Amino acid sequence: MKLLTPLLICLLLHPASGADSLRGFPDEEARSRQPFEQRLRATAEANKIREFMFRMAAEPHHAGSPGSRAVAEYALARFREFGLDARIETFHALIPYPTQRSLELLSPVRYTAKLREPVVKDDPDSSDQNQLPTFNAYSGNGEVTAPLLYANYGLPEDYALLRQKNIDPRGKIVLVRYGRSFRGIKAKVAAENGAVACLIYSDPRDDGYFQGDIYPKGPFRPAPGVQRGSVMDLPLHPGDPLTPNKPSTLNAQRLRLDDARTVHKIPVLPISWEDARPLLDNLDGELAPLEWRGAVPVTYHLGPGPALVHLKLQHDNAIRPIHNVVARLRGSTFPDQIVLYGNHHDAWVNGAADPISGAASVLEAARILAKAAQQGWRPKRSLVFALWDAEEYGLVGSTEWAEQHRDRLQREAVAYFNSDTTLRGPMSIQSTPSLEKFIEEWLRDTPEPAGPRSLLELTNRKSFHTAPLGSGSDYTAFAHHLGIASLNAGFDGNMAGVYHSVYDSLRWFQYFGDPDYVYTTAFAGFMATGLARMADAYVIPFDFSRVARFLKENVEDLKKLPKSRSLPWELLEREIEKLDLTARAWGAAIRPLYPRFPSLDKAKLQKLNEALYLTERSLTRPEGLPGRDWYKGLLSAPGKYTGYGAKTLPGIREALETQRIEEAAQQLRLLTDTLAAYSDRIRAATALAREF
Ligand SMILES: [Zn+2]
Repeated sequence: MKLLTPLLICLLLHPASGADSLRGFPDEEARSRQPFEQRLRATAEANKIREFMFRMAAEPHHAGSPGSRAVAEYALARFREFGLDARIETFHALIPYPTQRSLELLSPVRYTAKLREPVVKDDPDSSDQNQLPTFNAYSGNGEVTAPLLYANYGLPEDYALLRQKNIDPRGKIVLVRYGRSFRGIKAKVAAENGAVACLIYSDPRDDGYFQGDIYPKGPFRPAPGVQRGSVMDLPLHPGDPLTPNKPSTLNAQRLRLDDARTVHKIPVLPISWEDARPLLDNLDGELAPLEWRGAVPVTYHLGPGPALVHLKLQHDNAIRPIHNVVARLRGSTFPDQIVLYGNHHDAWVNGAADPISGAASVLEAARILAKAAQQGWRPKRSLVFALWDAEEYGLVGSTEWAEQHRDRLQREAVAYFNSDTTLRGPMSIQSTPSLEKFIEEWLRDTPEPAGPRSLLELTNRKSFHTAPLGSGSDYTAFAHHLGIASLNAGFDGNMAGVYHSVYDSLRWFQYFGDPDYVYTTAFAGFMATGLARMADAYVIPFDFSRVARFLKENVEDLKKLPKSRSLPWELLEREIEKLDLTARAWGAAIRPLYPRFPSLDKAKLQKLNEALYLTERSLTRPEGLPGRDWYKGLLSAPGKYTGYGAKTLPGIREALETQRIEEAAQQLRLLTDTLAAYSDRIRAATALAREF
């Protein structure tokens, strides 16, 4: 027996306390991992992050452009230089560019909208060639002249209020402001209410001078700043609108554009508040309710009219190549079990913050782990690093890739890690509930970027929860379509003022995003340690009790909704109770094996792990959610009318919210059956554990 220092003995006597216990590792190894993880974190270099960011955010690189291809080639070269097995995987998707944009106020006064973001003298990138003009991807083509109507954030309840006031949106061009819902939902709701076009502007109350100094003096949106962005109907399905459920390979069968469900028929255009001002100023009729007023210096009226607006939009609706970059570090023990980490590389313009801060973190995490591999460490499972293209258009690169590799991913994927923009700010993580305990330990063992506390201490909560996954980044296909345990992480700073504009530049990032790359560098180290844990755990560190807790809390929440009384909740609650017992039985079976992990039979361990990560697949249904069969997971999904925001237990919740009681009852039974199958799988894994 080795000699133990008193400190170590003390630690051994309390194996479950403090940072020593780690799900999936024997206690002794949990301790020896700490210096290893510290080394990984210390390997992350601000200089590297800076270099990656400068190379990838130097020029505009929107999906389908030569700039995007160049960024993909650059990342490919870096992955190979790190010693990883890397390649570019190309798809061919509907990636429209605008060909004609004009917006005029015809009367009572004439105004021609500028529709462009001017050069800022201090920011050389703002004058780059090949910037994509301001537009909304997947808008309809068309030319309309109609009276203007102001509809606040363009939410369903905003139109309800207009109708209450006998104001009819039919035949009008609606002007709505960004915020409170995904822009694609604003376009959808406008069309459903009979509007002939939708203009979306950035109100300075939400992200402009009202919030703080504007760029270049401060981080907030200048008057001519515009938020580009996709208006794809993402809650129906993300990815190429012409190849739902299938990969958009070169010769794929495609829908006709007219039949694509996620593309709009009405023209939709984003504008600055500078361009919105004369429009708002020429509305008459009733005063806008107090909460509808923003900070454009005019008196907000609802209209409609007298402002008469002419809008003409054309997009080329071309199929363009998009390039995902995928790199692999082969696992030593379970090479056919894979842990993935992805971030998109395409931007609307230069995108220093969105997405290059996160893309640089992928490169740096890959570099750190590849270097550790050269120094003798080898992940037990294979690690896959991905930089996705065309995320901005609607998660296109990741979705097509997930659809292309569906079978293999469903067989082999243990977990998917995602990031996007990461900035100076607090850590923010969303995840599937099975990963919550793993994340809690990971935060517990990670120091904050510039201070003495752990990231977990900073969450400042008695009972740790991760938020559920909605949509808005590349985890969507993995979590909601394939049923892979997923998480999305990032240091969460405020970039609202330059979001999707030419001013999301290296200069903005250095002044306001993450000066000195402190958080970005820490983030790369953080992701590297989490990936290494997930790849190295002898037994995959899912916690099924947290799934049961998630379900209990959400059922309690659903029961507060009107009309929920008539549903047979007891059925579901009994199944959740059973799941909780099953989860405890799993814990009781695996815990005694912890000290023996290193000596367990590899083949049997592989089988046990397979059984474990496949439990996540059984939380999906092949028929998917009502009216949107691409979304197969039953625990959470983006809301049909919120977009990015997550709806938990969406089948039941959305039926209840729209008073479809029959459907809610049916969804409740479906969830009950699904949980029964899930528990069965956990019991099967428990039986395997008892065989050791
Ligand atoms: Zn992004």
